Amino acid sequence: MSKTKGHWFPAYIGLGSNLHDPARQLESAFERLASIPDTRLIRQSSLYRSAPFGGVEQPDFVNAVAAVLTQLSAEQLLRELQRIEAEHGRERGDVRWGPRVLDLDLLVYADQRMDDPELTVPHPGIAERNFVLLPLQEIAPALSVPGLGKVMKLQVNLDEPNISRIG
Ligand code: AMP
Repeated sequence: MSKTKGHWFPAYIGLGSNLHDPARQLESAFERLASIPDTRLIRQSSLYRSAPFGGVEQPDFVNAVAAVLTQLSAEQLLRELQRIEAEHGRERGDVRWGPRVLDLDLLVYADQRMDDPELTVPHPGIAERNFVLLPLQEIAPALSVPGLGKVMKLQVNLDEPNISRIG
């Protein structure tokens, strides 16, 4: 899909880090999100700290969510996110659920629904992961996620490790 000139699409991005001063990584990622071409950073959530899951011994994660308006397509926006991950020293082939300097996920792109290994939107983690759901409820409670409904009505997952807002 090519850029649709003149149209601004709302999109939501999940940020996560658990290496090399995670809070600083996220602050720097927010700054880079604000400099993506044809894209405006509209809102950023607080930072949240959560225990890791998936059975890999590793430091706690810091997570947050950003809201942007963009003229890029979902695929173009994902490529920009991957460029920012790479700039932060993220290596493709990192262990799944393992430690990472910066992980950026495209959570929601307008009302688009697609299920492709390269790009699945809405991101399947939204309703399952408190570290996505809680910051999203903070900045976009009225958002209606295609296929899931309103963010404010989604229930936190009680089986997940503790999560706390750190500022
Ligand atoms: P991860 O290791 O979690 O960062 O996964 C990266 C891979 O997931 C890349 O190959 C992406 O193309 C793919 N992917 C699929 N859907 C998404 C999405 N909504 N946001 C980010 N990456 C995605």
